[in-house]
Amino acid sequence: MTRSLRVIPNGGRAIWRSIQGEGHYAGMPTMFLRLAGCNLRCSWCDEPDSLPDYDLKTKQFRVVPTNAARGVSFGDLSSQFWEHFDEGVGHLVITGGEPMLQQEEVLRWLMTARMNKAAFAITVETNCELPPVPGFRPHVDLASLSPKVSRYKRNKEAILSAARAWLDRAEHTQYKIVITSEAEARRALEMIHDLDEVRVGLRRGSAGVVFKALQVEWDTPVTEGMIDLAAAANVRLVKQLHKAMKLP
Ligand code: SF4
Repeated sequence: MTRSLRVIPNGGRAIWRSIQGEGHYAGMPTMFLRLAGCNLRCSWCDEPDSLPDYDLKTKQFRVVPTNAARGVSFGDLSSQFWEHFDEGVGHLVITGGEPMLQQEEVLRWLMTARMNKAAFAITVETNCELPPVPGFRPHVDLASLSPKVSRYKRNKEAILSAARAWLDRAEHTQYKIVITSEAEARRALEMIHDLDEVRVGLRRGSAGVVFKALQVEWDTPVTEGMIDLAAAANVRLVKQLHKAMKLP
């Protein structure tokens, strides 16, 4: 059977080269793989094309892909990767949508294409509601956890449970929580506190996460209150730079 991944093509390509606009690797030349489908519907989502391929009622991918999405075989994906790769690129970001909806296929592709043997880091961006399957975590150099403030009250248990699996390697993990107000900044800091408690509870030594930030949504003004809150918690306050730079 031909294996494939459901992707959102960028200019007809499933995978392309650009610059990472956020987090620990911000500014680094990067290859991007954008997968279709998400289990959430955030109001500020900058990739709305990636959403409808996944049916929230059935919790399944639609049998017939949406106009925006298509399946790409592992072989075609690898060809596109190496076509756009050059020696200056040290980083692959697997994003979406929610990549963890297709993690088994992602894992098979990484192993098939032997991406993890190449000399670059692999980041997976996730909303942290789905834990990695056994065997997935070691292939990820940076797990970028972006749980959503609006989901936390309702889904705290699932989010912390997924985080536990990632935080087993805290030094290969970052938190990046989008906020649109000071009230959300407070709630995001509570989430970061809870995530840190999970990390400490794992007793894997003293390693912390490599980056933790409140990420102010692009259209939202940064306020003095946000600055004070971030400073008091010793957490970074950043903007969505990939939007400011209009990165593809
Ligand atoms: S989790 Fe990410 S991809 Fe999914 S709706 Fe929210 S912002 Fe969009």
